[in-house]
Amino acid sequence: MAPALVAGHRILVECPAWCVVDHVRLHEQRVEDVTHWGEFFGTQVSTLLDDSTAYCELFGRVNADPSHPDPRMRAAHVLVGNGSLEDAFLTPDMADETADELIEFAVQLKAAARVARAANQGLLTA
Ligand SMILES: [Zn+2]
Repeated sequence: MAPALVAGHRILVECPAWCVVDHVRLHEQRVEDVTHWGEFFGTQVSTLLDDSTAYCELFGRVNADPSHPDPRMRAAHVLVGNGSLEDAFLTPDMADETADELIEFAVQLKAAARVARAANQGLLTA
């Protein structure tokens, strides 16, 4: 149990061990709005044409919304966001599948970097 501040009243809420939210500081107006989340992790993609901003971003965290009507949202799941208004919510299996695809993307990204570097060094001929 953890203390929470809801509509000005200090209450106790069940808070999972992975939750990093300070439910007192994050003062909610309704107990239904109390959600739990873990540490954020993520990455940004920059562009050589504008080093003052990220081209895109991707972040994630463990998440749970105990008052949500969908039991999958009440259970611990993984939130993935990209800075847009809508986040994606993944079951643990969906997160594993997405992670495998991102690992493959990273492998291809490294391969593309090797080709571009070699081309710029004149190591590739037509
Ligand atoms: Zn919590």
